[in-house]
Amino acid sequence: VPLVLTDFLDRAVEQYGDKTAIIDDEKRLTYKQLNARVNQLSRGLQELGLKKGDKVAYLAPNTTEMLEGFYGVYGVGGVMTPLNTRLKPADYQFILTHSESKALFVDEELYPLVQPILSKVSNLKHVIIHGDSQDDYPGYDEWRGKYGTEPFDRVPLEESDIASLLYTSGTTGDPKGVLLTHRSNYLHALSSMHHLKVSDQDTLLHVLPMFHVNGWGSPFYYTANGATQVMLRKVDPKLILEKVKRHGVSVMHMAPTVLNMILEQYESEKPAINQPLRVVIAGSAPPPAFVRKVEEDLKWEFIQVYGMTEISPLITTSAIRSMELEKTNEEKYRLKAKAGYSMIGAKVKVVDELGNEVPHDGKAIGEIVTRTNTVMEGYFKNPEATNAAIRDGWLHTGDMAVVDGDGYIEIVDRMKDVIISGGENISSIEVEGALYEHPGVLEAAVVAVPDERWGEVPHAVVVLRDGHNLAEEELISFCREKLAHFKAPKGITFAEELPKTASGKIQKVVIRKEFWKDRDR
Ligand code: ATP
Ligand code: MG
Repeated sequence: VPLVLTDFLDRAVEQYGDKTAIIDDEKRLTYKQLNARVNQLSRGLQELGLKKGDKVAYLAPNTTEMLEGFYGVYGVGGVMTPLNTRLKPADYQFILTHSESKALFVDEELYPLVQPILSKVSNLKHVIIHGDSQDDYPGYDEWRGKYGTEPFDRVPLEESDIASLLYTSGTTGDPKGVLLTHRSNYLHALSSMHHLKVSDQDTLLHVLPMFHVNGWGSPFYYTANGATQVMLRKVDPKLILEKVKRHGVSVMHMAPTVLNMILEQYESEKPAINQPLRVVIAGSAPPPAFVRKVEEDLKWEFIQVYGMTEISPLITTSAIRSMELEKTNEEKYRLKAKAGYSMIGAKVKVVDELGNEVPHDGKAIGEIVTRTNTVMEGYFKNPEATNAAIRDGWLHTGDMAVVDGDGYIEIVDRMKDVIISGGENISSIEVEGALYEHPGVLEAAVVAVPDERWGEVPHAVVVLRDGHNLAEEELISFCREKLAHFKAPKGITFAEELPKTASGKIQKVVIRKEFWKDRDR
């Protein structure tokens, strides 16, 4: 039996047919009802002439329509191509053209974002609106309603067929289109559901956007287990907590920035929030103090995961294992603040420039490389970038890390962001950590700038909190107290805001450009 993603829905329908699959505001659907809608969608796509391998773009927040899109598109052998909801019209034109999308499903509230560019994307043959019909494009429910709900005769798929075309965040350059097969997404789902202990008793609140790879994978493994999935259109801490309470949510995946917002909300209205959440899962390295707050104040178990679009995405986690149960809470928080150990199906190492594993001493820095069942086929229409990323069978993540004596991987920095000063490697994240300790600092980004004597030196771009006024010298001295002198920024630029990707990551590549002008860095 090939590993094809529609298996997950079939299992849920067979075993959990009458269980609630989706809660979307006032709407509730069982797995049978969800499947009926999926069958209609597949029939509709077939009638539009969509064939195996055709790309179908989705521009939608986390909704029922988005989730059923996954399975409906796979019914005709299509490739799901979700679009980030926070891009600009020109970005949509680029991605819709680059992806060669044949059809686009777009939420009515987001339609104005693409409306001006639709006529410029000649490969796009069909547009359907989630909501009411607009500019002669049909409304989804009316269109779907024309088709039968009975089982659909799916186009046969091999596990090597492409399931998704996901664009990376564009933190370090232009977004790249990542091709993932049914097999990769399937094996990723199996490994994740194991490590995150997903069961049919779970109720997931979809906080992470499904268009991004982190949110992308989760519908598969919660569906496979017959869990209930609660939709969330807008990331708002109050709304999140309200839904957690109302629907007995047991698990959420989210960015640490959102978790931070929830912690702030908690501090302002403590008694209202004491929810029996099982676990909260976050990618991106938080400090141990942050983990402690989540576990002790909110009483939610915290699990960190690490990965990237190119590997479906997750390959490591620091969920506590049996041999770590005896450790003190403080030690556990310290471990959980790391990216952790490899998940099933992934071999992960940290290697030096010659490809040799670095010693596990918590000090030696190398690049994370991985061989995994969940790796991409390659970047769409970009063989050079693919060959640069996958060398000798190992995917090079571009992330620098150290490994401690227990084998736990800890992310140090992105390779492109490390500052090489007089032969020493300086982690931009470490310098930013020192800056963030100053109460006047709201945001900070540290980049390498050219220096005649040292080659490169660290320079900080800082956004101050309202009402704070700081001199450059004062902030540099503050860092010198916290860091080895060569690591402290040599200069500071104060700015109103920092350039960011649509998913909220700071684009140091844009900041660096100003200092390096025409030179390559
Ligand atoms: P682009 O590749 O377009 O520049 P991006 O790398 O930000 O964008 P994603 O695939 O969304 O696109 O993000 C993956 C990156 O996020 C990783 O390479 C890593 O730098 C960072 N990351 C993911 N998980 C963690 C983690 N647990 N701790 C620290 N950083 C993480
Ligand atoms: Mg990347």
